[in-house]
Amino acid sequence: MARVALVTGGTRGIGEAISVALKDAGYNVAANYAGNDKAAKAFTERTGIPAYKFDVSDFDAVQAGIAKIEDEVGPVEVLVNNAGITRDGTLHRMDFDNWNAVLQTNLSSCFSCCRAVIEGMRGRSFGRIVNIGSVNGQAGQYGQVNYAAAKSGIHGFTKALAKEGAAKGITVNAIAPGYVDTDMVRAVPEDVLGKIIKTIPVGRLGTAEDIARGVLFLVDDNATFITGSTIDINGGMHMY
Ligand code: NAP
Repeated sequence: MARVALVTGGTRGIGEAISVALKDAGYNVAANYAGNDKAAKAFTERTGIPAYKFDVSDFDAVQAGIAKIEDEVGPVEVLVNNAGITRDGTLHRMDFDNWNAVLQTNLSSCFSCCRAVIEGMRGRSFGRIVNIGSVNGQAGQYGQVNYAAAKSGIHGFTKALAKEGAAKGITVNAIAPGYVDTDMVRAVPEDVLGKIIKTIPVGRLGTAEDIARGVLFLVDDNATFITGSTIDINGGMHMY
């Protein structure tokens, strides 16, 4: 039986590439999205992957949404916490709503989605969780205290949950993408983006498929000894 994989924010950008890569590798994929029905419908028509609309920043909506997926598609064995937003601004201009929206959507969502699937994974003694962080959570970024805090939090969350899951066959890893050519990055002003690209040693933005490749590696059934790690996929932009 094909393993069931859920990709949050799986209908556009990096999430779409992850959904498609998982499907192509034989997984039974469900993709989640927030509100862009047009993009989700086009995605399902293009890929044949069902799309489920719920807001990952809302704990109750996540529990209901994942229960529906488990009912219709099957128990979630692979979870990719990919949904994310930016609400950029320097701290002295940022209001609490923009702080909170980014924390809830990018970080609390990891708690809510993992909480919904973890008991099933523990019961079946198998699970693969991949959380999508960011180079800006590692290095910080001007105008992104909210986003950097949320993404940095993901890396701590990943390590702590990896320790809890290890004895139960559940691996928990993160990917920290650099700048990837998606709608999120296309929203960055062109002159700023030009300067950013100059700081990427490979000389280009990443593709969504560059990130999906890392996810496939981490969720493999045989990837049993890699947990609590972060894979940097950033074109050499930031190295530890
Ligand atoms: P994107 O193109 O803006 O797509 C975002 C996806 O997340 C969409 O499917 C969107 O659904 C969904 N989403 C947003 N808020 C949601 C919510 N509250 N509930 C459910 N789904 C929600 O973003 P992306 O560039 O592919 O980024 C994907 C992930 O990679 C994010 O976590 C981002 O922070 C991270 N990342 C991106 C880059 C980059 O350079 N692009 C770099 C580092 C990290 P709708 O279509 O309904 O809006």
